[in-house]
Amino acid sequence: MSESEKLEERLRLLENDLRLQKSRLVEKLARKHVQKAPKTAPKRTANALKHDPDFAIKVRALTQAAKLKKRLYKHIYANQVKFPYKNRIRINNLEFVSTNKGATLALVSSKFLDSNKQLTSLDDLKTTLTYNGHRYIKTLDGDYIMQNPQYSDEKQFCLYYTRSGTCSNKNCPFVHSPTHVALCPNVIQNKDRICKKPNCQFSHTPSQYNAPSCKFFQSRNCTNENCVFSHKSENKDARICREFAVNGYCDKGRACELAHYFECPDLQELGFCPRGSSCKLAHKTKVQPMNHKAIRNIDNDNVTQKDHPLLAAIQESSSEESDIEQTQTSDLDMNHDYVQIA
Ligand SMILES: [Zn+2]
Ligand SMILES: [Zn+2]
Ligand SMILES: [Zn+2]
Ligand SMILES: [Zn+2]
Ligand SMILES: [Zn+2]
Repeated sequence: MSESEKLEERLRLLENDLRLQKSRLVEKLARKHVQKAPKTAPKRTANALKHDPDFAIKVRALTQAAKLKKRLYKHIYANQVKFPYKNRIRINNLEFVSTNKGATLALVSSKFLDSNKQLTSLDDLKTTLTYNGHRYIKTLDGDYIMQNPQYSDEKQFCLYYTRSGTCSNKNCPFVHSPTHVALCPNVIQNKDRICKKPNCQFSHTPSQYNAPSCKFFQSRNCTNENCVFSHKSENKDARICREFAVNGYCDKGRACELAHYFECPDLQELGFCPRGSSCKLAHKTKVQPMNHKAIRNIDNDNVTQKDHPLLAAIQESSSEESDIEQTQTSDLDMNHDYVQIA
């Protein structure tokens, strides 16, 4: 879409919005008028209603409201599909994901969490909100954009690389670190914990960041010293960590309060999965404990990404690269569409 097309689109949306607001006001006025009328007023038949000068306006307002509701829901759904790998943030009893380096909060819930009340229009959403000390303003989609965006210059890891151990983009501006890669499914599934696949690019070093949580450890009876699973304590009702489930890697490791399993988070949260049968994550409410013959060196639990010399080098040279980062980072979510690791 060209710049002028974008502006035209925006103008069209603004005009629609204004038109809706006007018809809502007219409707409100009409309602007040009706309320003031004496109770003895004769009942109006459906036919008479059609000759009511306000009727057409009311119908138009309702049609417009229905259209806008549909647009809002479409947008929320698109966000849900686009960001399965981002953990949800709760603000004003609604859920968002932080994207565009924190400059945008994309709406992912269609109802208020406290009351279960469905959103019916953009008007249900506050005009502004505050998150992390920043002020955000509502857009015509229902997302919020930061008022004076301040992008952090923190390096972002390439999600392709994290999920698979490879990235085909030669000009990829994101960090490719061998310590920031999902664990090989063979190591997780094979009884001998050995991957026989030649040139397998996945990580073969289980760590607190890439290994699923140990089910036995939750009940305090994992006695396997070489357990490949992460000995991470989790609340029974903890939600699935989207970063872990979809990317195969969570930067918080054992400090993450969410559950680290390869289960579908959408099914758990929404009661349905936007990916349907093409979803590679487990569609079940309970996971069976995995086989526990293991090879892990427990020291791996304490490996942090910062320890990697490659990463230190990248961070040192960050001043030269920061320009690329600024201009291309907004493409992260577009470029890194959902790719399943296992
Ligand atoms: Zn990359
Ligand atoms: Zn492998
Ligand atoms: Zn264990
Ligand atoms: Zn996590
Ligand atoms: Zn799913």
